[in-house]
Amino acid sequence: MTLPTDYTGVLSLLGRVDVQAYGRTRNYLDGAVSRLSPYLSRGVLTLPQVRDAVLSRHSFADAYRFIYELAWREYFQRMWWEWGDRIFEDFKQPQHAAHAECLQSVLEGSTGIEVLDRGVQELYATGYLHNHVRMYLASVVCNIGRAHWRASARWMYYHLLDGDLASNMLSWQWVAGTFSAKKYYCNQDNINQYSRTSQHGTFLDCPYEVLPHLPVPDQLKATGQPELTAALPASSARLDPAKPLLLYNSYTLDPLWRKDLDANRVLLLEPSHFQRFPVSGRVMDFVLALAKCVPGIQVMTAEVADIPDLEKFPGIFSKAHPAFGHYPGVKDEPVWMFPEARLGNSFTAFWKSCEKALNLTTV
Ligand SMILES: Cc1cc2nc3c(=O)[nH]c(=O)nc-3n(C[C@H](O)[C@H](O)[C@H](O)COP(=O)(O)OP(=O)(O)OC[C@H]3O[C@@H](n4cnc5c(N)ncnc54)[C@H](O)[C@@H]3O)c2cc1C
Repeated sequence: MTLPTDYTGVLSLLGRVDVQAYGRTRNYLDGAVSRLSPYLSRGVLTLPQVRDAVLSRHSFADAYRFIYELAWREYFQRMWWEWGDRIFEDFKQPQHAAHAECLQSVLEGSTGIEVLDRGVQELYATGYLHNHVRMYLASVVCNIGRAHWRASARWMYYHLLDGDLASNMLSWQWVAGTFSAKKYYCNQDNINQYSRTSQHGTFLDCPYEVLPHLPVPDQLKATGQPELTAALPASSARLDPAKPLLLYNSYTLDPLWRKDLDANRVLLLEPSHFQRFPVSGRVMDFVLALAKCVPGIQVMTAEVADIPDLEKFPGIFSKAHPAFGHYPGVKDEPVWMFPEARLGNSFTAFWKSCEKALNLTTV
């Protein structure tokens, strides 16, 4: 499926979300998932906007499962706000991994598990992966291959069009058991069920209780280090110092944000950010294409402090974001779906609080 990059196409994708089919089939690799995450992650759509669009067409009961999944995203984002860079470390308990490298067969898509190997090729070819395949890959890497989650999370983030540091790192940690009470395992039966395949004889073809005790299979012994570097475009922005400056980044490309303000609009690509968290050429092209949803936006590759004559603009505005707290000027607060909900110490606690907030607002 080709993902649109024009705003009309994005809104049309949003209008086609089938929440009933979603509730029934989302776990299947051919299920009716929305593919909205690239637009949520890049800020083209906001969570309340998606929720409201869905609830304008469906009852809350029908949309329940979909909103519940959106709440996962909100939860991860708010964890990032709350804990900052702590989310990049083993969060609740250490993983006790055998090593910190990636697994060569996962990088090559040659584990011998057909669904995973096809998934890796799909990731390289399209930048998208179904949630279950992400979970399967992370489980094989961390809990069967006993590699630490961080290097592989960085590899996956590099390739995902929806790459989001909070959803990514905390999902890897959830699978590895450093952000959850227990590690997540999948066996071949589970993979076959949700991918409608019938492969047998693989290292995952065993009962669940055996999985935590499996010695590292030969297919997962070789380690590798992928080369992850971001190529940033040359920039040629011409700014008018008489007008305010609106700063966008690869997570805040919202065409509706302060749309009536007569201002310089700049997609700022900071080399230091992409050095720390590199993305592939495909991801960068996607970001640049999506940026065109914002009328008049210009691209600038520079650190924010190096923007010429920064002090001369009559105002500097950005959308607040945990990775870009160093921007100068006014930072507009994020809008949440459940601003009243408390984070608690698990997603379950958070969701309970969201449900309570929902009941309160519908009384
Ligand atoms: C190892 C791993 C890495 C991940 N990395 C990312 C990432 O970098 N960026 C990212 O956006 N998501 C990530 N996810 C979460 C999830 O896989 C994707 O959000 C989802 O698959 C996106 O596809 P979709 O839009 O079709 O989802 P749908 O199933 O249609 O869900 C609708 C929306 O709900 C949210 N959502 C659904 N499931 C999850 C989830 N498990 N966690 C958080 N939000 C969810 C997303 O915003 C998604 O767009 C990761 C999950 C795992 C297990």
